[in-house]
Order: sequence, then structure tokens, then C-alpha cells
Amino acid sequence: MTILLALTACKNTNVNACQFNDEDTIKICATLFPQYDFAKQIGGDRVEVKLLLKPGVESHSFEPTAADIVNLNHADLILYTNSYMEPWIEKRLANALENKNLMLVNSSKYIEYLESDHDHENDHNDEEEHEDEGEHGEEDEHLLDPHVWTSLHNASLMVDAILEAFIQIDPDNSDYYTQNAKNYKDKLEALDARFKDLFENSPSKTILHGGHATLGYFAHDYDLTVKTVFESYSPNEELKIANIKQFIDEVKSQANFIPVLYYEELIQPKTAEMIKKELEKGGITVELKMLHGLHNVSKSELENNVSYLSLMEGNYTNLKAGFDKDE
Ligand SMILES: [Zn+2]
Repeated sequence: MTILLALTACKNTNVNACQFNDEDTIKICATLFPQYDFAKQIGGDRVEVKLLLKPGVESHSFEPTAADIVNLNHADLILYTNSYMEPWIEKRLANALENKNLMLVNSSKYIEYLESDHDHENDHNDEEEHEDEGEHGEEDEHLLDPHVWTSLHNASLMVDAILEAFIQIDPDNSDYYTQNAKNYKDKLEALDARFKDLFENSPSKTILHGGHATLGYFAHDYDLTVKTVFESYSPNEELKIANIKQFIDEVKSQANFIPVLYYEELIQPKTAEMIKKELEKGGITVELKMLHGLHNVSKSELENNVSYLSLMEGNYTNLKAGFDKDE
């Protein structure tokens, strides 16, 4: 029993916080779960990939500690999401790193950002022009939706950016990485086709979501609308009664009403449960189902070796419950 516990503990400390052991492999630190998984898929056994976030940690409010920064200096490559998701990378980290050979790569460098469809604090429209790797988005980090990875199409573009960095660091294994990336992009494309098919054949085009605004890019790919209780791109917004009332009115006005209300990962779905109860008072019954936003994963998800694709498959199953009229 003691041995088993020790092994489990060891396993957990090995997968997070970007502490590297093996001097001989290519060491990659990913700030968020999607690029952590993409890097593992492309790099296979030729790289060591770590996730900076510990399991279950809320990603939007995360900032690295001084100890994290010391560890990061031992990496060869840091894959961050973008400056809207991790403003501290360009504002703080780039200057604090002593290892000048360390590559910092914006995994979203090939992605086109969507304009906001509602007013976010200090919105500007011309900011995405400056979203290149290494540039400083000093003006405001909350201008655009950072959740690019929720689109399978964007995931493929993130794979391109990561592949390019791998080839630059380790050109000898270029063919190996390129083939892995191609195989993986085929899988992303296949799942994307299944989502397209599901939504094209559904009478409803609206996802009712009791969380923060994470699904803009996903919805854009399939011409869907997402109705959220919170308008913010981060989960730290205070819930207002007026927002709940407005949300419930919108649910009631849906033409092709689908009785599934979605909630997000890693939190107790208190808001969704509250809305469910309010709707029941009005004679409307909804089922609650999770849509994983893939920012980070829980300890048990990590131990069960979940992947970007397996979590997206889970989302497909839960969306099918709402959108497939034959279910
Ligand atoms: Zn988010």
C-alpha cells in the first residue's frame, strides 16, 4: 500500500509545474492543456512535455511564482496560448528569463481572432494586428476572446505553430514530428466533420451555457449562437440577478427549444443548478450536462490520461444529447 501511494504521488508531481529531470531530451513547458497535449502528440517519445498549471488550477487568474520561473529557465521551449490568455508571458516572463536560448512560442500565431459581439471592458478593434510572437500587447490583455482552442480548426493551426517550433529546435527529427502532426490533424478534421454533421442536421442552433464565454470560436465554426449567463471571457465575474433573469427569458423564447443546459469544467455548476430550478418554477425542465472548456484538467482526468480529443469527444456526446433530434 505504501509503495502504491508513493508511486501515485510521484506520478502527480512529474506531470505539472514544468520541473524537468532529464537533461538529454527536448524540454517543453506548455501553459495550458491544449498545447500540452498537442506537443505530446507531435513530439512522441522524443520530447519531454510538462504542463505549467497544476491539476484543477483556474487558468485565467494564474501567474507563475518565482520558483516556477526558475524551473522555466531549464526548458528549451515554452508554448503559451496567446497574450490575451497569459498576459504575464510578454509583460513579465520574457524579461525575467536568464536562459537566452529558450524559445517562447505563441501557439495562436496563425489564428485569426474573432471580434467581440458584446462590450468587453476597454475593447479596441485593431489590437489583433499586434498579436505576433514576441510583441507586447501592453494596452489591454482582455480585448479579444482568448479561447481559440475550442475550435478544432484552430487546434490544427496551433499544431502547425508547435510543429514549426519543434523542427527549428530539433531539425534531425523533422520527418518524425511532421508525420505525427499530420496524423493528428487528420483526427482533428474527422471530429470536426462529425460536429458539422450534427449541427447541420439539428433544428436548434443555440447552445445554452451557464458558464463564462468560452465557446465563441467553437460556435463560429458551426454557425451556432451561444447564450451565456456571464458575458466575461474569464470565470471570475460576479453573477448578477439581472443576468439570470435575462438568460431565463431568452431560454423561454427559444423557437426550437432544447432542454439541455451546459456547464463548464472544474467548478461546481451552482449557476446552472440555480437556473435549472428557476426554469422548473416556470414549468420548464432542463437537463444539465458539461461542456469541457479544456483550459486545464482535474487530477482524476490527468490520471485517466484524458486528451484534447477525448475531452472533445465527451463534448460531442453531451452536445448530441441536446442537438440530435433522434436522441
Ligand atoms: Zn476561459
